[in-house]
Amino acid sequence: MTDLSLSIEKLKNVGQRNAPRLNRLGIKTLKDLLWHLPSKYEDYSETIPISDVSPGQKVNVQGEVVKITTKKIFPRRLFITDAIVKDMSGAVKAVWFNQPFIENQLPEGAFVSLAGKVKTGKNGVYLASPTYEKISSFQPTTLKHTHGLVPVYPETEGVTSKYLRFLIKPILSDLQLNDPTPESILKKHGFPTLSDAITTVHFPLSENEAKTARERLAFDDLMLFQIKALLERRKLNQLKSVPITFNEPLVKDFISALPFELTGDQKIAVWEILKDLGKKYPMNRLMEGDVGSGKTVVALIAGLEVAASGHQSVFLAPTEVLAYQHFKTISSLLNNSPVKVGLLTGSTAQINGEAISKKGLKERILNNEVGIVIGTHAVIQKDVEFKSLAFLIIDEQHRFGVSQRAHLIKNRGLVPHLLSMTATPIPRTLALTIYGDLDISIIREKPKNRQKIVTKIIGQNQRKSAYQFMREEVKKGKQIFVVCPRIEVSDPKSEIRTSGRQSKMNILWADVKAVEEEYKKLSQEIFPDLKIAMLHGKLKPKEKNRIMQEFKDSWHDILVSTSVIEVGVDVPNATIMAIESADRFGLAQLHQFRGRVGRDQHQSYCLLFSSSSDKTTSQRLKALTECDDGFELAEKDMAIRGPGEFMGTKQSGLPDLAMASLTNVELIKKARLEARLLLKEDPSLNKYPLLRERLAEFQKMTHFE
Ligand code: ADP
Ligand code: MG
Repeated sequence: MTDLSLSIEKLKNVGQRNAPRLNRLGIKTLKDLLWHLPSKYEDYSETIPISDVSPGQKVNVQGEVVKITTKKIFPRRLFITDAIVKDMSGAVKAVWFNQPFIENQLPEGAFVSLAGKVKTGKNGVYLASPTYEKISSFQPTTLKHTHGLVPVYPETEGVTSKYLRFLIKPILSDLQLNDPTPESILKKHGFPTLSDAITTVHFPLSENEAKTARERLAFDDLMLFQIKALLERRKLNQLKSVPITFNEPLVKDFISALPFELTGDQKIAVWEILKDLGKKYPMNRLMEGDVGSGKTVVALIAGLEVAASGHQSVFLAPTEVLAYQHFKTISSLLNNSPVKVGLLTGSTAQINGEAISKKGLKERILNNEVGIVIGTHAVIQKDVEFKSLAFLIIDEQHRFGVSQRAHLIKNRGLVPHLLSMTATPIPRTLALTIYGDLDISIIREKPKNRQKIVTKIIGQNQRKSAYQFMREEVKKGKQIFVVCPRIEVSDPKSEIRTSGRQSKMNILWADVKAVEEEYKKLSQEIFPDLKIAMLHGKLKPKEKNRIMQEFKDSWHDILVSTSVIEVGVDVPNATIMAIESADRFGLAQLHQFRGRVGRDQHQSYCLLFSSSSDKTTSQRLKALTECDDGFELAEKDMAIRGPGEFMGTKQSGLPDLAMASLTNVELIKKARLEARLLLKEDPSLNKYPLLRERLAEFQKMTHFE
C-alpha cells in the first residue's frame, strides 16, 4: 500500500530546497501532493505531422533534432536557442529564450517530443518556447509533459507544473491506495477505485475520464460531510428539550390580531417551527429569508407559545441597535399580551419599555417573570440565569448559534430549541450539504405591501444626474445610504505573507480610507449643504451604535459606510441605497445592501455606480436590475463565481474539490442517499474502519468553531 502520510521531503527529487516551496502550496505529505489536482489540461492528445503545423495552434510534434544553436545577444544579455526538428513530413523551428542548457539536453541526432504554441515570425512559422521531452522511441504513454492531456497545476514560485508532473507521474505507476468508499457504492454509481481516480485525474485519456475521476473524489468528501451531518443530528436527537404543546387558540388569535396578513411562506415557517418545538429533543432549524421578508414575527409567534406554556425564550441579536429594534417591534406586537418582554444589552436593561436595573432584570429573569428576553451577547453571560429557558432565537449570526446554545445548556441538562435566522440566501444544494445537520425553513414570498425597489446602473456620465436625484430625495426629507467599495489589496503577495490577522487589518484600514475619502468628497464637493455621517469598522462599537441610532432618528441625511454596516437595521425613511464600484461586490451582497431600503411605503431606489466596461460584470449587475429574488440571485452568483468564491471555502469547512462540485445536484443527491443507507446498515460504521478513520480526520479538519 502507498503510504499517504509520507512526508514530502522523503520523496525522491524533493529535498531540503523544494520542500518549503511545496509547503507553500499546502503540500506537506504524499497525500497532499496527490490531491493537488490540475486546474486544467492542455490538450496534446494528437501528435501531428510537422508539415501540418500552422500558426495559432497548440500542437504536439515529435521528431529528430537536426540542428541546434544558441546565440547570445549582447546588449540585452539574451540567449536564444534555435532548433530544427524534423519528422517524415517536414521540419519546423523551435525557439527558446534564456535556456542555453537546452542545447546540451537536446543534442543533434536526439529524438524529441515538443508541445507548445505555433507562431509566425519573419522566417515563417516556429514553436515558441515549447515544452520538450527527450524520447528514445515513439512511446506516448511514458510522456508526461508533451503528449496527451497534459495537466496544468496551481503553481507557486519555484514550483512549476512541469516540476509537479515530474514528481507525480512516477508515483502513479505504482499507486495502491486503500479505498475508504465501499466497493458496492463504487459499482452502483460507476465510480473508479481511488487509485484509478487519482491516476486518471492527473493524466486522463479524455476530459470525460478526468470528470468522472473528479466526481468520484468529490463524492467521497460529500458523502463524509453527509455522514457527519447525520451523526450530529442523531446526537442532537438524543438530547432532551422541553416539548412545547401546540396552543392553537393562542396562535390563531395572535395571527388574526396582527396588523397585516402573514404570507404563505411565513405561515409554513410558523408551522414547521411549532412542530419542532413540540418534540422532546432540540429543534435545530435555520430560517432563511430576504431582508424584510418578515422573519421576526415568525420567531415571535413561537416565542409567544413558549411563554404561554410557562417557559422562556431568548432572542439574540448581533448588535445593540438591532436588539433595541427587535425589542421595540416585539413589545408593540405584544401590546395586548400578558407576556413580559425584557431587553438586556451591555448598556441597557428594560422591561416592556421601562428602564430597570440590570440586577433587577436578572432577578426577574431568574423568577421566570420575563417570558422573552431580547439582547446581545450580554444575555448569554454566566451571571444571567433562567428559571426555564426552552427556546433560543439567533438573528443574523453567521455561525448559526451552535456555540451560543452550548453556553445556555445549564438548565438541568435540558437543551434549548434553536432557531437561527439569516437574510443571506444560500442556494439549496449548498445549504443541504453544508448545513446538512440543520432543518431549513425558507421565506421566499415577500409581504404584499412591498414596493419593488427601482435598481439602476449608473455609468460615469450619469453620475451628475444621479447626485441631482439624491439631492431631490433628501429635499423631500428622505435619507440615503452610500456604501463604499471593498478596496482590493494592491499587492496580493503581501496579503499572503502577512497572513491572517495582519492582512485583515490591512484590508480594514483600506476600507476605512475608502470611507474617509468618499465622506470628504460628498461632504465637501458634492453635498456641502447636507448632513453626512460616516461609519466604518475601525470605530468602537459604542460609537457605531450611536451613529446608527442617530441616522435612524434622521439626524443625518446621508450615511457613508463600508460594506460592514449591520444587516437588518431598519431605517424606514431611507429610500436610496447608493453603492460605489458596485462591480466589486457579489450579487448576493449587493442584493443584501439593496434590502436596507424599501422598508416603508415610499418608492425606494438602488443606484449601482460602476465604471467597469467589462461584459460579464455588466451582465452581473444587469441581473440585479431585473431580479429581486435573493434565492434566484444567489444561484446566479454561485454559478458565475463558483461555489468556493461564493461561500468562502474556509467558512464551509468543505475541501475545495467537494466545494467546486456543489453545483452538481445529482452528485449531492447520490452522496446524501449513500450516507443515509450506510448509516442505516451499520450505524457505527464498524464494517468500514477506513471510512471511520477518514470521518474522524474530517471532523477534526472541519471543526469550525
Ligand atoms: P426580516 O426578515 O428582515 O427580519 P422583519 O421581520 O424585520 O424582516 O420585517 C420587516 C417588517 O415587515 C417589519 O416591520 C414587520 O412588522 C413587517 N412584516 C412582517 N410580515 C409582514 C407581512 N406579512 N405583511 C406586511 N408586513 C409584514
Ligand atoms: Mg431581521
